[in-house]
Amino acid sequence: MKLLKFSTVNQKLDKLALEVHKQKGIYLNVYSVSIPSGRAETCPYADKCKAYVDNGKLISNDDYVDYRCYSASSEARFPSQLKQRDYNFDLLKDCNNDVQELTTLINASIPIEAQIIRIHVGGDFYSQPYFDAWLNVAMLNREIRFYSYTKSLPFWVNRLDSIKLGEFPNMELIASRGGTKDKLIDEHQLKEAVVVYSEKEAKERNLEIDYTDYLACYGKESFALLIHGTQPKRINKFRKLINKLNISIEAIEFFKNKVLTPKQK
Ligand code: SF4
Repeated sequence: MKLLKFSTVNQKLDKLALEVHKQKGIYLNVYSVSIPSGRAETCPYADKCKAYVDNGKLISNDDYVDYRCYSASSEARFPSQLKQRDYNFDLLKDCNNDVQELTTLINASIPIEAQIIRIHVGGDFYSQPYFDAWLNVAMLNREIRFYSYTKSLPFWVNRLDSIKLGEFPNMELIASRGGTKDKLIDEHQLKEAVVVYSEKEAKERNLEIDYTDYLACYGKESFALLIHGTQPKRINKFRKLINKLNISIEAIEFFKNKVLTPKQK
């Protein structure tokens, strides 16, 4: 049986392992598994983050995005990374969205020594059966902690009742704005990661910045993520402006509308 390829190579995963040691005094093995970033079939609800690689080239509508998908930029730089993600997605597609087949494939692929798994550094939950398969896998592997950022909010909301009932205590989901279904975050009070453009902005918003993925993996409250990676010029301009000025949230919103407002889709 062909298996999905998991990865340990990621700066943030290393930082998470160190932070877990700092907080809990134990070293845990952290893995991730990904599919290609930003394609309509892998990130069905991506909107103002959307970027993907086509024929080795990064495709991004820089006049429209609020932040450019960091994972897609990384795929453009490291073709072997994209190759691994394509391989994974091909295997998953072969399951034809059958929950049982997906569950079996994912479950069999989990590295034996994994103790924390980040689902998707690249890609997102692309269908309800695929989302449900991950919930099944979490149930089958109670000793492993799973976490995932997602814009595929409708799949999460459809299972909110059983998640709230505590059926998946080892699965931590974090809503990420910039998708086409952002309204579900407020409607259902989902835990979210707010992308901020400066440390000051996080402070103004009363949000702790997660530098290590620890708050994503273990926290129960929303938190901030400092924008990173290669970003389009207009976003860098906005980032510099916000960093220079000691301004209120109202002023940040004002400048966001002026400098950052998407010009076209
Ligand atoms: S949903 Fe995530 S992986 Fe997909 S394009 Fe947006 S930021 Fe990238």
